[in-house]
Amino acid sequence: MSDYQETLYEGYGQRFRMDRLLHEVRTGHQHLVIFENARMGRVMALDGVIQTTEADEFIYHEMLTHVPILAHGAARRVLIVGGGDGGILREVCRHRSVERITMVEIDATVVEMCKEFLPEHSRGAFEDPRLNLVIDDGMRFVATTEDRFDVIISDSTDPIGPGEVLFSENFYQACRRCLNDGGILVTQNGTPFMQLGEVQTTAQRMNGLFADWHFYQAAVPTYIGGAMTFAWGACDAASRRLPPDILRQRFVGSGIVARYYNPEIHQGAFALPQYVLQAIGKP
Ligand code: SAM
Repeated sequence: MSDYQETLYEGYGQRFRMDRLLHEVRTGHQHLVIFENARMGRVMALDGVIQTTEADEFIYHEMLTHVPILAHGAARRVLIVGGGDGGILREVCRHRSVERITMVEIDATVVEMCKEFLPEHSRGAFEDPRLNLVIDDGMRFVATTEDRFDVIISDSTDPIGPGEVLFSENFYQACRRCLNDGGILVTQNGTPFMQLGEVQTTAQRMNGLFADWHFYQAAVPTYIGGAMTFAWGACDAASRRLPPDILRQRFVGSGIVARYYNPEIHQGAFALPQYVLQAIGKP
């Protein structure tokens, strides 16, 4: 008998005390629960998997947003796939250089419920005039759109349920087609200690598709099992190897005050442990 949630990993799970249930609903796509926890603040789970918590969301959202946008240096058009809680949107909105943000989220209920019960995630960003919010499957959108983007950020659920297509070869290929010259794709890619196969599969799919592909990491306590990886696919190899003073200049110029991100963390995050390098064929 287990008294913890082991939805993702057999025999290893996570337990949160639900101090106050704020909302629970079966949307057309998934089972959504938002509750309060004394340590982690407000928490959202989808299909029994914890997605985000108020306490540590800044680590994930800053790293998945500022790393590609500052590495790009002149991103004007940004696409967010998933991201219904609005945390990535909030961070993208902080970049004054960004002129247009398209966000494609499959589940309108996630957006509506997060605006109401997790307002600190988006902090009004859904009202930003640069936003074009599309309620649709991200795979379908990238396969059919004529729009082109400088940065694409995939803030998806894990590769089970509606998020599975966002890890497919077709998805990465379609994203590559939607990128402008110098464009960058980043995707949440799970914790390699627990999901090494996922990282390996993404590496195989990125290889040959992007001039430069790699992964970078950040430890987010909510995503159990060690540091989390983000996949990186860039049309231009230089964006991952910026001189530190250029990156610092861009960060200072952005005027962004971050809680986790800084240029040193940015560059250090691309250093991967040996077992991950071996798994992705870059030992
Ligand atoms: N940060 C979380 C994590 O790493 O577990 C995930 C955040 S949650 C906002 C992911 C979002 O992806 C959900 O709102 C979900 O509805 C959305 N999503 C899942 N599959 C999708 C798809 N095929 N197209 C667009 N959005 C999708």
